[in-house]
Amino acid sequence: MTSQDSESLYKSLFDNMLDGLALCQMVFDTQKHPIDFKYIEVNKNFEALMGLKNAEGKKVTELIPGIRTSNPELLEMYGRVSLTGKPEKFETFNEPLAKWFLVSVYSPRKEYFIAVFQNITDRKKIEKDLYNAKVAAGNVLEDLQVEKEALARAKAKDDAMLSSIGDSVIIVDPNGIVTFINQSAQNLLGWKDVEIIGKFLFDVIPVEDEKGERVPMNARPMAVALALNTTATPESTSAHGIYYYTCKDRTKLPVAVTVAPVMLETKIVGAIEVFRDITKEKELDRAKSEFISIASHQMRTPLTAIQWVAERFMKKEKLTPKGQEYLSDIHASAMRLTELVTDMLSLSRIEAGKLETTPEIVGVVGFVKSYLQEIAELLGKKELEVVFEDHPVELAVKTDAVTLRNIVQNIIINAIDYTPNKGRIKIAIQKKDGTFVMQVADTGIGIPKGEQHKIFEKFTRASNAKLHKTDGTGIGLYIASRGANLLGGKIWFTSEEKKGSTFYVELPLEIS
Ligand code: ADP
Repeated sequence: MTSQDSESLYKSLFDNMLDGLALCQMVFDTQKHPIDFKYIEVNKNFEALMGLKNAEGKKVTELIPGIRTSNPELLEMYGRVSLTGKPEKFETFNEPLAKWFLVSVYSPRKEYFIAVFQNITDRKKIEKDLYNAKVAAGNVLEDLQVEKEALARAKAKDDAMLSSIGDSVIIVDPNGIVTFINQSAQNLLGWKDVEIIGKFLFDVIPVEDEKGERVPMNARPMAVALALNTTATPESTSAHGIYYYTCKDRTKLPVAVTVAPVMLETKIVGAIEVFRDITKEKELDRAKSEFISIASHQMRTPLTAIQWVAERFMKKEKLTPKGQEYLSDIHASAMRLTELVTDMLSLSRIEAGKLETTPEIVGVVGFVKSYLQEIAELLGKKELEVVFEDHPVELAVKTDAVTLRNIVQNIIINAIDYTPNKGRIKIAIQKKDGTFVMQVADTGIGIPKGEQHKIFEKFTRASNAKLHKTDGTGIGLYIASRGANLLGGKIWFTSEEKKGSTFYVELPLEIS
């Protein structure tokens, strides 16, 4: 290559290179401090990059007047390189041009330097964005860490609380998989947390009802709570109040259970089951029922004797009117007590789940008539008009006489008790297909509308009844309705306050 060829090559490189290139002469003051520099030769890209025109022959302070104050380090550095000849490289932000440059400087000759400029504004911007993103990510991470620690603290607190409370707690996820079991539950059931966590609750802890029958999965409070998103107990999900959990060693444990769904915003994320061992309560309950049962049994014999003697006395002996009155009071009270004792006995049998039926043939019409005979004195005293005409000649049914008596007695006695003197009681019996219906209508105080829905519940008395008759117990109707259920029938009523009530009992003509 000739020197001419190589010159034109370098010239073309000089003009076409993408970097900006400038050959400059440094200007020093008398103390040899660099104060300015002059552009000797610049390439096209230099002018384009710098936004300068016709730079050659001009001083930098003419072209960029603010440069000495905005970038004093530039002059320092150019001066240094042009004097020492040691190349340097740096990044600088040109404020007047608002651009970043990577500048490589070297000196071809003393007091001269060549600067090569690369515009790195875009790279710098990306670097800055990256830096900002890093700072933002750092902040998010920091927030997350704080949040995580708060969550861990809350969880530790919840775990400690759940683990240490006396009641037993099991938590499941929405699919019924156990996620937590506290110490008390582990002690009761005999399962260790590691053995039960991750398993399907319904598999590991089978449940039986009071009759020893397996409670189906979908009837269990846990399944109901998860499916219907409500708090559930055995009472709310099945007819049998008490549940028995099967422990690891196959023993049965009576428990009281409540299950509540766990919600996160509107989503069910699991359910929490709280339960406790009620063996002691059950035992106490059993002892109480047994005591009531024995005590009432024992009271029945002397009470019947009092009633019998009073009756005999009234019939056989010559008595003064006062004596007659006293004896009749004794007789009525003994009868009342007998009814009360019978009710208590029935209640304790119901509670113990010991209601049994012995079918026998009963003539229902005669049965009711004879009961009315028994209470004739009571009816007479209140001067009540009793009408019992609307019925078949006789109606033979196959039923349990004791239960039937409980029902008939409680309904008729109520009609008497809640009807003021000189009122009217109408009794009717109708045969239907496979059943018969007994109606007892009175002209009594009635039952307030708002209290009617719970009148068959145990110990429930309407507000007006409490004023009318102070010594009621609220168990008669409960016994009557349980009795009707036991016989496969039902009981209902219509009533209007201050006008009267009609109670209906529908029972099968034959029980098995
Ligand atoms: P008790 O009569 O001992 O209060 P019951 O269980 O027999 O208990 O009756 C429950 C309640 O039902 C009564 O307290 C009363 O409020 C209402 N009741 C039952 N029968 C009648 C009736 N014939 N008339 C008005 N109220 C009645």
